[in-house]
Amino acid sequence: MLDAKIPSGPLSEKWDKHRFELKLVNPANKRKYNIIVVGTGLAGGSAAASLAELGYYVKNFCVQDSPRRAHSIAAQGGINAAKNYQNDGDSIWRLFYDTIKGGDFRAREGNVYRLAQVSNHIIDHCVAQGIPFAREYGGLLANRSFGGAQVSRTFYARGQTGQQLLLGAYSSLMRQVAAGQVTLFPRREMLDLVVINGQARGIVVRNLVTGDIESHAADAVVMCTGGYGNVFFLSTNAMASNVSATYRAYKKGAFFANPCYTQIHPTCIPVHGTYQSKLTLMSESLRNDGRVWVPKTPGDKRSPNQIPETERDYYLERKYPSFGNLVPRDVASRNAKAQCDMGKGVGETGFAVYLDFEDAIKRDGKDVIAQKYGNLFQMYEKITASNPYEEPMMIYPASHYVMGGLWVDYNLMSTLPGLFVLGEANFSDHGANRLGASALMQGLADGYFVIPYTIGGYLVGMDHTEVTTDHPAFKEATHYVNERTGRLLSINGKRTVDDFHRELGHILWEYCGMSRNDDGLLKARKLIQVLREEFWENALVPGVSEDFNQSLERAGRVADFLEFAELLVMDAFERKESCGGHFNEAYQTEEHEAKRDDENFCHVAAWEYKGDDTDPERHKEPLVFENVELTQRSYK
Ligand SMILES: Cc1cc2nc3c(=O)[nH]c(=O)nc-3n(C[C@H](O)[C@H](O)[C@H](O)COP(=O)(O)OP(=O)(O)OC[C@H]3O[C@@H](n4cnc5c(N)ncnc54)[C@H](O)[C@@H]3O)c2cc1C
Repeated sequence: MLDAKIPSGPLSEKWDKHRFELKLVNPANKRKYNIIVVGTGLAGGSAAASLAELGYYVKNFCVQDSPRRAHSIAAQGGINAAKNYQNDGDSIWRLFYDTIKGGDFRAREGNVYRLAQVSNHIIDHCVAQGIPFAREYGGLLANRSFGGAQVSRTFYARGQTGQQLLLGAYSSLMRQVAAGQVTLFPRREMLDLVVINGQARGIVVRNLVTGDIESHAADAVVMCTGGYGNVFFLSTNAMASNVSATYRAYKKGAFFANPCYTQIHPTCIPVHGTYQSKLTLMSESLRNDGRVWVPKTPGDKRSPNQIPETERDYYLERKYPSFGNLVPRDVASRNAKAQCDMGKGVGETGFAVYLDFEDAIKRDGKDVIAQKYGNLFQMYEKITASNPYEEPMMIYPASHYVMGGLWVDYNLMSTLPGLFVLGEANFSDHGANRLGASALMQGLADGYFVIPYTIGGYLVGMDHTEVTTDHPAFKEATHYVNERTGRLLSINGKRTVDDFHRELGHILWEYCGMSRNDDGLLKARKLIQVLREEFWENALVPGVSEDFNQSLERAGRVADFLEFAELLVMDAFERKESCGGHFNEAYQTEEHEAKRDDENFCHVAAWEYKGDDTDPERHKEPLVFENVELTQRSYK
């Protein structure tokens, strides 16, 4: 039985009550504990800094050369909080409700309410760190709207919110590095988790510069290794984003929850070539002022400025008058696909829709629009050679974020005692669809405000037997890592790893992307198995292991993607309903919206690894709704 350990009592008092009931580690004893934090993004950076500030000794790992290069730095649009500075009707309850509804009623009430509660502390904390959030003329913090909300609650630093927040977390982290509480290990890739007596007690990493395999022991491991969106090959994620750390932990006993909940973001620069390896996000914040449209007539190839107003279909405003262009991402993405499938897509490929700022520029002036989105417009022009001040942007959905991840309880602990999972790496609080600007909120809530309390409760009660890296479990993990590395280097095939990855991405996009059906999912599973087999016979991984070898790094990650993708597809196949980002064509309303099956699928699906040659076991954590009524989601 999966016990989420949600505290009893009224929703608004659960977290307070829990914090009171959690056992504390006294200040002098904290320095007796060593904690490993893997990841230096917003979740990992904030966790490492906060745990060190409390007095724990922290070892902090990342694959980049600097903690500041974590993928979080790419976050553009903003971070949500229920401050209600706009006086427009926001409250903790509304943020909680919007998030539960946005996730299509597939998240836990207790977790989401806590997230809404601590959202306000995050903003205060970040302001104190000096984050240059946008401000109103009078000096108060400014807000804008994001999808799935009818209030303005998104705090932002132009289109660089993630960068500014990460610099804040990084400053706090470096303070602790200087104080000797945190030791940084950049350029290290976690390749295995070490479990001793049923508890997570360390990790094995590869030094990406020298190739050395290193072992690190600790009293607890906190994994903050981000999302697996790159399984689709083309995505808006950083190139290094991967599933390896979480997948290896899954193989060591941590359950993987809801892997099929993936988010396809509606506003990305469309694919423009076969050899492209990355897609670029155009922040959702642009939908505050940009209007989405397609020509009314299929196949209309006129340039956008020649298409008169009466011949344009502002389909989101038409179909969803209440939320208009700010419908949640799953809804906006599916609608864009539907328009393109009807032949109304624009651009050379026909896989794009317009995002038009003409009216906003007429209304507010170019300067105001430039102040809000200048850097995004500049980025768009650099990539496409088209000026969005003069003609509409062309956008299309792309893989962007994942709601699935390692299963965690209310304390953010996985099914493996001592392994905590934070940020995008856990299955998190977003249910089947994340609302814009809520990932940064969740990552920082986890790192600054949840783990500092909950880890203490675990440490006090754990088995305190001393463990060093001489333990046979470390030798075993090292042997596994060396053996796998050797196998990759000895394949000596003819096909590049990227080529395998690209094909995997095509399979997933085609059969397990914005819409899915049972036949396609069965087909995808077979195709993935065949591709995986070919990978181990024909992949080309040049170079040696005792050196800086990016081909080897990539090969390891793609090998994990090739296994994990099958789990993703299996999870999608087993969920016989549509909810949020998981849209099975067999389950839709008459208006083609996602149709849930609350009777049979109101649960988290958590997968347990059972060996390479055996199917994993699907466990359920029932979701209990005591405070909100389950309804058909409507944004009309
Ligand atoms: C283009 C873009 C824009 C976005 N904009 C927004 C936004 O405006 N608002 C919002 O709320 N969300 C946004 N998101 C989502 C948000 O940025 C991410 O969900 C969030 O930053 C993830 O943070 P994280 O700390 O969990 O992981 P990451 O920032 O991905 O950090 C992962 C860390 O783990 C390390 N790591 C990974 N694997 C290993 C390994 N095997 N061994 C060792 N270290 C490892 C990495 O080095 C890195 O330090 C955006 C996402 C994208 C792609």
